[in-house]
Amino acid sequence: MDNQLASNTTTRVIAQDFDYSAPASLAEALSIRNEYGEDVRPLAGGTDLLIELKADLREEGHLMSLDGVDELNHITDADDDLVIGATVTFDQLIESPLVNDWFPSLSEAASDAGGVQVEKMGTVGGNLCNASPAASSAPPLLNLDARVTLQSEDGERTVPLDEFFTGPKQTLLESDELLTEVRVPKTRFDGWAHEEVKRVTEDLAKAIVSVVVQRDGDVITDCRIGLGCVAPVPMRASNAEAVLNGETFSDDVLARAGATAREEISPISDSRSTSEYRRLITETKIEDLLTEAWDRA
Ligand SMILES: Cc1cc2nc3c(=O)[nH]c(=O)nc-3n(C[C@H](O)[C@H](O)[C@H](O)COP(=O)(O)OP(=O)(O)OC[C@H]3O[C@@H](n4cnc5c(N)ncnc54)[C@H](O)[C@@H]3O)c2cc1C
Repeated sequence: MDNQLASNTTTRVIAQDFDYSAPASLAEALSIRNEYGEDVRPLAGGTDLLIELKADLREEGHLMSLDGVDELNHITDADDDLVIGATVTFDQLIESPLVNDWFPSLSEAASDAGGVQVEKMGTVGGNLCNASPAASSAPPLLNLDARVTLQSEDGERTVPLDEFFTGPKQTLLESDELLTEVRVPKTRFDGWAHEEVKRVTEDLAKAIVSVVVQRDGDVITDCRIGLGCVAPVPMRASNAEAVLNGETFSDDVLARAGATAREEISPISDSRSTSEYRRLITETKIEDLLTEAWDRA
């Protein structure tokens, strides 16, 4: 097998040696994280991490499975927030009556994330900590003003999701911390729509557009547009939102919002798409999805 093919395949065994821990509680997991810091890598569903190890894109000396940490696997109704534990899988989001009831755009995003294997194994914590600009859960969670809880043995802090991502594959997470939960304020939007533009279902997206909207008659009172794959980090199209909020819903205002979003994104060209296509499809999908969300409202 030539080197190019070997580095692209995801079916080969993991050639590296590494230590492996399987803590049975959050306290034990945080203690291991505190002891080994950068030298231990949390392992959730492994759908990003194991593939990078197989392809020799990274080396890890020590993996710590979060599978046995039951405290991280729950979806809880907690007064003003819905709290989603870090190891909740896409499949659990899709199946959750609470998530479907409050945040249908998040359920839809989960069902768009890869194929069946990724839905069964991929977790929301892994999705956010991997910090890909193409993270499916990020645009709807940004729209919903989600916060993430980062915990270490020294305590915990809560960070707005829009501050958590600091660059491609970069976050605020410190080496002694775990992301333990995502807290989502229980705001019910009148309308929503979510779409990922992909080559095939199993692939990462070329562009993600996720919208929620509140309406008062014909007036858009609160519209939020989350985007993926069009900037170094998942983002809200704040300038486009400003064009829409307070306006009467019309084709003209949709066109102005789409054109504004096209200018405020900074997509790159890569193996999945070109920068120009990403600008064009984002503009078009914003108009389409706002119409879909409005019709639902
Ligand atoms: C075929 C295929 C298709 C895919 N399609 C999509 C898609 O459409 N959309 C999409 O968003 N993703 C997609 N992915 C990527 C991946 O499935 C998701 O990003 C998934 O959510 C990762 O979660 P995980 O639990 O598997 O993370 P892991 O691979 O276990 O971990 C990912 C990273 O997060 C860190 N981490 C995990 N949990 C924690 C935690 N609690 N605290 C601190 N650090 C943590 C790990 O150390 C690692 O660095 C796809 C992957 C494959 C293989």
